[in-house]
Amino acid sequence: MSTSILYHGFSIRQYQYLKTDYRHGALFFHIEKSKERQCCSVCQSNKVIRKGRVIRTLRTLPIGNKKVFLVVHLHRLLCRKCGALRLEPLLISHPKARCTRALEQYVMDLLKAMTIEDVAKHLGMSWDTIKSIHVRALRAKFRNRRIKHLRYLGVDEIAVRKGHRYLTIVVDLENGQVVWVSEGREKASLEPFIKRLKRARVPIKAIAMDMWPAYWGAVLKHFSHDVIVFDHYHIISDYNRVLDVLRRQEAASAPDEQKTVYKGVRYLLLKGAEKISGATRARERLDRLLDVNRNLNIAYILKEELRDLWNCKDFSKAKTHLDNWLQKAWACGIKPVMKFANKLASHRCGILNFFIHRVTTGKVEGINNKIKVLKRKAYGFRDLEYFKLRIYFLNEARYALIG
Ligand SMILES: [Zn+2]
Repeated sequence: MSTSILYHGFSIRQYQYLKTDYRHGALFFHIEKSKERQCCSVCQSNKVIRKGRVIRTLRTLPIGNKKVFLVVHLHRLLCRKCGALRLEPLLISHPKARCTRALEQYVMDLLKAMTIEDVAKHLGMSWDTIKSIHVRALRAKFRNRRIKHLRYLGVDEIAVRKGHRYLTIVVDLENGQVVWVSEGREKASLEPFIKRLKRARVPIKAIAMDMWPAYWGAVLKHFSHDVIVFDHYHIISDYNRVLDVLRRQEAASAPDEQKTVYKGVRYLLLKGAEKISGATRARERLDRLLDVNRNLNIAYILKEELRDLWNCKDFSKAKTHLDNWLQKAWACGIKPVMKFANKLASHRCGILNFFIHRVTTGKVEGINNKIKVLKRKAYGFRDLEYFKLRIYFLNEARYALIG
């Protein structure tokens, strides 16, 4: 071993090699700062006198399958300029860490392709140690995140636990990165981030979301209506809920001899018409239902017409289509549908904004699926900060998702 190998192989600068010990199959390299490099950590004066020392042992990069430790001889230095006695700062690790920055970087590189458990096993370190290295690195990365470049965002809630525990997730729709994670799905779950965007004068063009009042409420406090785009999949699934309620109401009041017509048709009603092809049995069953029930028939036709809205080529065609649809829905006499039309009318601007910005929350759905994988290993909830950090960097992890 030599000072030069320490430098080139272990990225250790400013220290010189003293000696090597071999204990329990591991290598211990003793190092210290060379005298000419020693200076006062406060005033930088090199007029210092060594007054005793402290030994710190740090795990560093292995050599093959051998563990390697650095035994750092830290000197206490008396500064002749400022008169104080201070311990030299340790330059090769974070203040409280028990391994070097070089090893931490190596762990991070391994985590790109391996699980925490794999890395722990490979290096002979504990799961908790690898995790705390990961947390520290993710935190540092997180502090360096920028928001100035954001233009198109998608917001959605995800259920992380049964019993209505939610996280609010904001995704940069241009690169798929998670830019905000917070607990709950209230106004307060989103507003701090929106406020930050506003304060940093980020020229946001559009934010896709569902019609959940908390979210658009939070956005409207700081931005104009123009940026809000209501996501069409959410709108259709909202309408489908109405259609399903109606189906149950109609089934309950149907005469006994017709009851069977209402059975097992739920998914046929909610599915897009193009997915139920030709003269199949499914189509026949659906037609039979729509034949016997006028209200369901109307509500079903309105669903398909509403879906058609998003096939409109431009803003003005969409505007006409939506307004015609609203007129028909209000005139249909079916209470739940009319109520839904009221809701759409009050969200009209955000629905039509789609035809300007053409964004959806689809990318957030993708993230959602990745989070589900992360969630399956329940450790996330025991340490919510770590769970959130991992969500922020989901795109960079392939394997570290699990374990
Ligand atoms: Zn000094």
